[in-house]
Amino acid sequence: MNADLHCHSNVSDGLLSPAALVERARANGVDLLSLTDHDEVGGLDEARQAADAAGLHFVTGTEISVSWGDDQTVHIVGLNFDHRHPALVAGLARVRSGRDARAGRMAEELAKVGIDGAYAGAIKYAGNPALISRAHFARYIVERGFARDVKTVFDHWLAKGKPGYVSHAWAELPEALDWIKAAGGVAVIAHPARYRLTATERRELFVAFKELGGQGIEVISGSHNADEVREFAGIAREFGFLASRGSDFHGPGESYIDLGRTAALPPDLKTVWEAWT
Ligand code: AMP
Ligand code: MN
Ligand code: MN
Ligand code: MN
Repeated sequence: MNADLHCHSNVSDGLLSPAALVERARANGVDLLSLTDHDEVGGLDEARQAADAAGLHFVTGTEISVSWGDDQTVHIVGLNFDHRHPALVAGLARVRSGRDARAGRMAEELAKVGIDGAYAGAIKYAGNPALISRAHFARYIVERGFARDVKTVFDHWLAKGKPGYVSHAWAELPEALDWIKAAGGVAVIAHPARYRLTATERRELFVAFKELGGQGIEVISGSHNADEVREFAGIAREFGFLASRGSDFHGPGESYIDLGRTAALPPDLKTVWEAWT
């Protein structure tokens, strides 16, 4: 089973439309796909329609931005839920509603270090102010010639502690899990290796997530190296989490790992999709 349960369309900060993303997934041999736009479910109907036409299994998804600990952000992927459920829809709308004001503050900070016009520049890439993300700022900063690629922009300006970073209150972990559960879905900790947490803090996250009814963890992510895969396979075994696999693909030229092209999950793990296929 070639499952890819984490990717982004241009309904959030990806480059391809939901239909184009599904077509690329099919061409890459994906059997089971979820579209997990940040705090948004607006691309799911188009993706589902395209997946049905292409003969691909599709489950609904979203990647919720969650504030955690001392000004950390973690991402929780929700999978296989009712994307019209009112609690989920309202919760995601609230999370998105903070993005525009945050973007204004980011632009002010970037202007102080010589990068002007960043709000208008990022909006041009985002389209909708409610979806504006650091990825859109990064594209503008590359366009202006301040950096050669998006990764470099994060390293110099947008990562925590850099001049264009502003702290922000996203969803709380319990409410994100409530929305996913209310809508009948499964919650998965996204790319656990990417958080700047100590080993102790990371375990605290897993314990809290489990206590709140969280069930899954991305063992395979486009951003995990082989050591990280081993580490989080161990966590899945220890905590009894269902294992998920996702590329976190954002678009050609921007993501190193293409749809459906990540490594396979270690075969002994119980997969998040076992119950669906
Ligand atoms: P935001 O939700 O606005 O905080 O933006 C987060 C998004 O920025 C992530 O989903 C990625 O698409 C992108 N991102 C974060 N860190 C990096 C990085 N180091 N390199 C490239 N893209 C990144
Ligand atoms: Mn993103
Ligand atoms: Mn993420
Ligand atoms: Mn993602």
